[in-house]
Amino acid sequence: MIEEGENVSEMVTMPAMKPVDVAAREEAGPQTRETVFDIQALEASYGSNVAVRGVDLEIYRNLITAVIGPSGCGKSTFIRCLNRMNDEVPSFRQQGKILYHGIDLYGDGVEPVEVRRRIGMVFQKANPFPKSIYDNVAWAPRVLGLRKNLDERVEKALQSAALWDEVKDRLKRSALGLSGGQQQRLCIARAIAVEPEVLLLDEPASALDPIATQRIEELMHELKRDYTIVIVTHNMQQAARVADRTAFFSIDSDDSGRYGGVLVEYDETPKIFTAPSDKRTEDYVTGRFG
Ligand code: ADP
Repeated sequence: MIEEGENVSEMVTMPAMKPVDVAAREEAGPQTRETVFDIQALEASYGSNVAVRGVDLEIYRNLITAVIGPSGCGKSTFIRCLNRMNDEVPSFRQQGKILYHGIDLYGDGVEPVEVRRRIGMVFQKANPFPKSIYDNVAWAPRVLGLRKNLDERVEKALQSAALWDEVKDRLKRSALGLSGGQQQRLCIARAIAVEPEVLLLDEPASALDPIATQRIEELMHELKRDYTIVIVTHNMQQAARVADRTAFFSIDSDDSGRYGGVLVEYDETPKIFTAPSDKRTEDYVTGRFG
């Protein structure tokens, strides 16, 4: 558990870190796992700069998958590929394949708006709209024409985001009056109001204090029953606490000597933190690098 006042980010760079505590977890056996994303030879670039390459991995349903690695190794670029958030970046280029339930996410006829309805995203900095708490959660359902039983939909999303009890008496007040942690849970409620299947969380707690961080982590454990979660975090302890599986990305040079992110190792979280297969993973998780 995190103690108040503890500086979580410092742990990442400590030279001789004790092994991280890896929480006990129940993971479905390989036979019963359902693949949500099948990512094949993914390479993502901005202009001629390769942000990340060599990503081959499968993401499974109702598990929490963490992506860890040093700053600039392409974690954010990777997670944004999973719901086509990079489409708007003019210099962005992608090679390889991302299959979502067997369908090419970037194939002809696939609508980015529909992709983002099924695959929701929450960002590092809570970004509620300058509207009421209610209108924030009701926003996406209204855009999509889901106006029937809107009150129930809003309440359900706020319940699922563990925020209802704190806001039920002030739904018409501005979302900007909420604390940082509450705003982030509101953004989670906003994402789940259109009933996506997947939640992508890009450093969702890095701007929050330890208590608010703990609430987000507890919430993730609850959300996992209904959602498939992918989380980018620079906080290894957080990955060890919440994730079933962890992908470690690092920065490496390619054949022509150009540096970029690369997937080093992907496995069950306890294995990544206690018995990694690759020396680079070991160096990173023991604090010798990064
Ligand atoms: P991380 O999340 O691991 O810190 P990022 O995915 O943010 O890594 O960045 C990976 C690389 O891609 C970095 O070199 C970064 O400068 C570059 N990059 C990220 N976003 C953009 C962008 N919109 N335009 C150009 N380069 C970018």
